[in-house]
Amino acid sequence: MRGLTISAHGGVERLELRDDLPAPALRTPTDVRVRVHAAALNHLDLFVLEGLPGVTIVPPFVMGTDAAGVVDAVGPAVTSVRVGDRVIVNPGISCRTCEYCRDGEQPLCVRFRVLGEHVPGLAAELVVVPETNVRTIPDDLPMEDAAAFTLATLTAWRLMVTRARVRAGEDVLIWGIGGGVALAALQICKAIGARVWVTSSSDAKLARARALGADVTLDHTRDDVPRLVRERTGKRGMDVVLDNVGEATWQRSLLALGRRGRLVTCGGTTGPMVTTDVRRLFWNQWSIMGSTMGSDAEFDAVTAELRAGRLRPPVDSVWPIEEGRRAYERLASGEQFGKVVLRVAP
Ligand SMILES: [Zn+2]
Repeated sequence: MRGLTISAHGGVERLELRDDLPAPALRTPTDVRVRVHAAALNHLDLFVLEGLPGVTIVPPFVMGTDAAGVVDAVGPAVTSVRVGDRVIVNPGISCRTCEYCRDGEQPLCVRFRVLGEHVPGLAAELVVVPETNVRTIPDDLPMEDAAAFTLATLTAWRLMVTRARVRAGEDVLIWGIGGGVALAALQICKAIGARVWVTSSSDAKLARARALGADVTLDHTRDDVPRLVRERTGKRGMDVVLDNVGEATWQRSLLALGRRGRLVTCGGTTGPMVTTDVRRLFWNQWSIMGSTMGSDAEFDAVTAELRAGRLRPPVDSVWPIEEGRRAYERLASGEQFGKVVLRVAP
C-alpha cells in the first residue's frame, strides 16, 4: 500500500512516498480499518519531521496526524461503525485503563500516544485504529474538509470550552490567526458569543479572519497589542488569551490579560521557555492552563458540531499525496490560512 513516510529526520527532502508498505491488519476485536481518502497536516508534523526529543520512529514511518475515509474492515466486537461508513479519525490513542482514562480524561493518559507522532500516522491508504477513535460523518461532507477537522478542532474545543470556559460577552485574544487551532478557536468562541480579537502579521489573513467573524484584528508586528487591548477595553484587559506562540508573545499575553484572566496554551512555536511575574499572577488572580488534544466526550461534542454544519475548518490547500513535499513546504512557510490537506485516494 501507499503512504507518505520518513526513514530519517530532517527537512521536507526526507519525505518519501512509498508503494511497498504492508497493509495493516486488525489487531484487537475492537479495531477498525479505514481506507483513507484525505489526510491533513498539523504543525506537529513539522516537529515530527525534524525529530522530537524522546520519540524514536521505526522506519519507514508513516506521517500524518489527521484523516478521513471509509471503514474497510471491523473487528467482531465493533458496534459503532460498519464497513462502508464515512468516518473521521481522532489521532489520540489512550490505554483505556489508567486512572485518567477511567475518569474520561483520555488526553491525560499515562500511555497517551498520537498517530503520526509516537506511532505510525494517517497519510497512508489504510490505517487501523481503535473503534473509540472514529466517528461517522455526513455523506455530503467533502473528505478534504473532514480530514482537516479533527486534531485542530478537538484541541481548540478542549482549550476554549473545557479549560478556559469562555462565556458569551467575554473578550478573547488569539495570537497568530491562520493556523488550524487558532482558526478553530475563533469559530468556537464566536459560536459561544464571545468578542474575539485576533492578531497576524498579514493583512490578508486579518481580512479573512474578519470574514470568519473576528471582531478586532491587530497586526502584532506593527501594533502594541497590550496597549491597544487596554485602551479599547477601558483598561480592563482580556478575559481569555490563547497563546500558542510561546517566547515571542508570552509577556504581551500577560500584559493584555485582565483580572481573573485565563491564559491557555497548547504549544509554543517560537520557543518553550517563558517567564511569569508571580506577583502579577496572584494579584490579578490569573489562571494559566495547558491543554492538549481532547477526550472521547469532547470528540463527540465536536463531531456533533461538524454534523450540524456549525463548525467547518477553513482549508488552505489540497495536494495529491504525490506532492507531499510541496504540502509540507506550504505548512512550513507559515503562509497558509487554514489546513493543508493531502488527497490520498486516487
Ligand atoms: Zn490511560
